[in-house]
Order: sequence, then structure tokens, then C-alpha cells
Amino acid sequence: MGRREILRLVAGFRRFRDRYFVGEEALYQRLSTGQTPKTLVIACSDSRVDPALLTDASPGELFVVRNVANLVPPCDPGRGVHGVSAAIEFAVKSLKVEHVVILGHRQCGGIRALMSDTAKESDEHLFIGKWMKIAQPAKERVLARHQGEDFEALCQHCEMQSIASSIENLKTFPFVRQAIEERGLELIGIYFDLEKGELFEMASDGTSFTPIDITARA
Ligand SMILES: [Zn+2]
Repeated sequence: MGRREILRLVAGFRRFRDRYFVGEEALYQRLSTGQTPKTLVIACSDSRVDPALLTDASPGELFVVRNVANLVPPCDPGRGVHGVSAAIEFAVKSLKVEHVVILGHRQCGGIRALMSDTAKESDEHLFIGKWMKIAQPAKERVLARHQGEDFEALCQHCEMQSIASSIENLKTFPFVRQAIEERGLELIGIYFDLEKGELFEMASDGTSFTPIDITARA
């Protein structure tokens, strides 16, 4: 990273510090003793879809996991190390979040690579192909249901279908199922269309997405 880029980041931190530490000392004093976020967001690593920026969230509001294509793997404690699963476990069991939001988005590079078969394991990509296999069932469902549609439409369908698949995968974690049954943990699918600046919410059965009226007040 060049010196100029570091200075740009530091200048950003200075603005952040002025805004939060000077303006909201009480908030920071409270946060210095622990966090109590109500929402876990699983979002893409894509630089255009930062969940805290998109929702104008304050420090302490969102517990966030970001990865390529905002995917949740199925519960598989037997093999490997699992950063995403560990974060979900901590958020659900220890922080006792009330909602888990899978935040997908338009123009997702991971989904595009999956749909175009460029994500396959190769010398160039050691890890992406294996990771994107999590969304392979979503791809197959999209190809079966939307035969004949153009590539852009197929990518968009898969961006949405993979959200539904991740929500299904969330339910394979015993502690997630337990939290749903015992304290009403909600699993929510949201899709951000960054071309149109619109949000869509997934129906509870995962089969469709409808536009969210963003003028509605909380
Ligand atoms: Zn993405």
C-alpha cells in the first residue's frame, strides 16, 4: 500500500473519530465494555456493498461476516477450519442476535464466475472454485428453471437463488434451528440492486423477491 493511500485512510479515520468519539462519547464508553448487536449480516466482500455504509449503521449495531458472494456453507464440523461458521456460532449463541440477514447483490463477481465456469479450480484460482461450490445447487436450480434466458438474467437469478440456499444452509446448524424455535431468531434474505439503488426482500419460502418500500419508517 502506498504512503498516499495510508494517509487517505488515516484522514478517513480522523473524520470518523471526530464524528464518533467527540460527538458520541457516551456511545463509545458503553461500547468499550462490550457489544450487543441485534443483527448478524452476511454480506459479500465486494467494495460496493459495505453493509454498515448501506444501512447507515452506527458502531455496535451490526455483527458482520463478509466473504466472496455472501455465502453460508452447510454445517460441517468434521473437516477444515470454518471462519464463517465460527462467526455465525458466536453471533447466535453468545451475542444472541435476533436476526440474521443474508445480503446479496447485483453484479456479484463470485456468482458471475460460478455461472460462467471461470471459478473452477485452476492454477490461477486455488480457492475460489472450491468456495463457490457452496452455490452450485443454486446454479443448477437456476439453469433448470430459466432455460433460454440470457447470461445477465441467469446471473441475477443465481444471485437471488444463492441467498435462498444460504438461508437453507443456515438451518443446518443445530444452534440456529434451536434459536429459531426457542427465541424466534429470524432469517432474512435481502438483495441490493446496485444498478438501480433498490432493495428487495426474499419471501419466506425463498421463491421470490419483492421490492422494499424504502419510504416506510421503522
Ligand atoms: Zn458479490
